[in-house]
Amino acid sequence: IVLIFLFWMVQCSKLSKLAYTFSTLGLMLWSMGNTADLIDEIVRQPYWVSIYFEDLCRTSGMLLTSYGLFKTMRFVQSINNRLVRELIIDDLTKVHNRRYFYQHAKDAQNSPYVILIIDIDHFKAINDEFGHDVGDLVLKELATKYDNAFVHNNKFSRLGGEEFGGYLPISNMLQACDFSQQLITIAHTINIQNIRHLTVSIGVAMQMPNEPLDKVMKRADQALYLAKKNGRDRFEVAP
Ligand code: GH3
Ligand code: MG
Ligand code: MG
Repeated sequence: IVLIFLFWMVQCSKLSKLAYTFSTLGLMLWSMGNTADLIDEIVRQPYWVSIYFEDLCRTSGMLLTSYGLFKTMRFVQSINNRLVRELIIDDLTKVHNRRYFYQHAKDAQNSPYVILIIDIDHFKAINDEFGHDVGDLVLKELATKYDNAFVHNNKFSRLGGEEFGGYLPISNMLQACDFSQQLITIAHTINIQNIRHLTVSIGVAMQMPNEPLDKVMKRADQALYLAKKNGRDRFEVAP
């Protein structure tokens, strides 16, 4: 009864092809062996059934079921690995996402640190002029270039839309400003269909003693707003 119940469970589960085949075949053979054993108690069976057939079925069934179980565990592990990865990766640009950014900034326990909020200038106009697909390509190209520029413990993520976040575990504002200027220069290297260069605006904020992350983000966002107001293609530092 236990084996039949297990067999039914395997039929109801969504397993990989190999895991399903080995588990089904194994449990079938195992059940056949046990059934022959049970019938043996009621009717007298030929010698080859009660000895060879019965044991062969049961042993091979157990072996195949074990391999099916091994394949099932590998299948579940691969799904788990994929989910863990997808949870922290942005689908379009393949860089880290907002969830990862906030989690990292909270867990890193560096104090102080610098937050950058990077926003593409007039991105709506790029979409309108060149199409949404070109807009997507621009996002991917910029994200890849920026991801390569954030080395060591500096973290880069797509916060959403055409907005990106940077986390620098440093206490030197001059260094943060130099890096922001580098990011602005990198954006200029992106040429949209040989017609227009990309520009970004950046808001920079350094964490003050005991300041929570959401407050630092808010100040970086205010600095970004100032950069937009002061003509874009530039960075501003939050007071
Ligand atoms: P500003 O310089 O003030 O930042 O202007 P903007 O046009 O960049 O900002 P706005 O917030 O007006 O527009 C953002 C645009 O980004 C609108 C939206 O359609 C576009 N966008 C957001 N996510 C995506 C995406 O994944 N792909 C594409 N192609 N466009 C996106
Ligand atoms: Mg924008
Ligand atoms: Mg924006």
